[in-house]
Amino acid sequence: MLAFEQGPIRPPSEAQSLLIRLTRNCPWNKCAFCNAYKGTTFSARTVADNKKDIDTIAEMSHLITQLSQGNNGELQDRLHESDQFQLYHVANWLSYGGKTVFLQDANSLLLKTADLLEILTYLKEKLPTVERITSYARSTTLLRKSVDELAQLKQAGISRVHVGLESGCDAVLKFMDKGITAQQHIDAGKKVKAAGISLSEYILLGLGGRKWAVEHPFDTAGVINAINPDYIRLRTLAVVENTPLYTKMQQGEWEEQPDTSIVEEEKIFLENLNGIDSRLLSDHSMNLLGEINGKLPHDKPAMLRVIDSFLALPEEEKNNFILGKRWGLYNGLGDLQDPSRHEQVKNILRELQSRGTLEATIANLKYQMVRV
Ligand code: SF4
Repeated sequence: MLAFEQGPIRPPSEAQSLLIRLTRNCPWNKCAFCNAYKGTTFSARTVADNKKDIDTIAEMSHLITQLSQGNNGELQDRLHESDQFQLYHVANWLSYGGKTVFLQDANSLLLKTADLLEILTYLKEKLPTVERITSYARSTTLLRKSVDELAQLKQAGISRVHVGLESGCDAVLKFMDKGITAQQHIDAGKKVKAAGISLSEYILLGLGGRKWAVEHPFDTAGVINAINPDYIRLRTLAVVENTPLYTKMQQGEWEEQPDTSIVEEEKIFLENLNGIDSRLLSDHSMNLLGEINGKLPHDKPAMLRVIDSFLALPEEEKNNFILGKRWGLYNGLGDLQDPSRHEQVKNILRELQSRGTLEATIANLKYQMVRV
């Protein structure tokens, strides 16, 4: 059987990338809001196992390439021995030029630098079309590597790391058991930049709840300003059952922010981003305002105008937009101008309001979005 190992998760920006699983699950696995790897145990895969997977991918690539050039039944038979899903994955990757690779799972830079260098060198040798290799990494892990080690990884092929910064507010980081301080986030981010590796920092809007509704976005902007990452990627929290945060919420220790308050928080964050030239992206469907995308500082006024135009809507129109967006009927604020969709949402809104189930329905729609 021609097969290689893959994990469950990748960033949305890596949809065209080949997924190679260097480690399994998350070595920390304690963040109160996260259920991505709950119930699993972290393990590192050996250099030999990773090389074997790379060999398999190279073989699959070779077979697919030969087949696409018109070949005989012998190749078809060989392909039938393969895991069809993985074969499709490799074919899809090749169809985009076979240029990008994402290393799974949550924190593969935890491997010894020497082992990573050996795997990366082998990968580039066996898959010569690869131009970009990226990975998630925890700030604590990045802090344990020297700038020189990170520069060696860059030299060997690591072009970008994705870091879940989530918040720059120490009180929030502690409450959520993120296992890191704001200053450590800054130090880790600066190291990555000093090594010449592209840096994506993920921010989780809503994580401060009602208690830290101002401190969370304000302090997070301060941390981002100190790092000046290449990318700031916005995410919006949805509290998921079976997480410590859900329990804390049930016990009244933490209160969830409604969508409008999260947009106000987004405004505080954006207003306080200064002196940086990062690209800010809302590249996840959970974000209410997917239009907030742009290069700083140039696009900051335009992004703030989008936020202000939402906040200036009458209450009923805000509810109409939130429901339409969560229901999947609207893509952006401009869709409010579509009379047919607007009327459709208006009718559903009235029905839910009369039944007193609007908030519960919106919460459920958000929950469904993070489950898929
Ligand atoms: S480090 Fe990332 S994957 Fe691990 S528990 Fe925290 S948020 Fe989840």
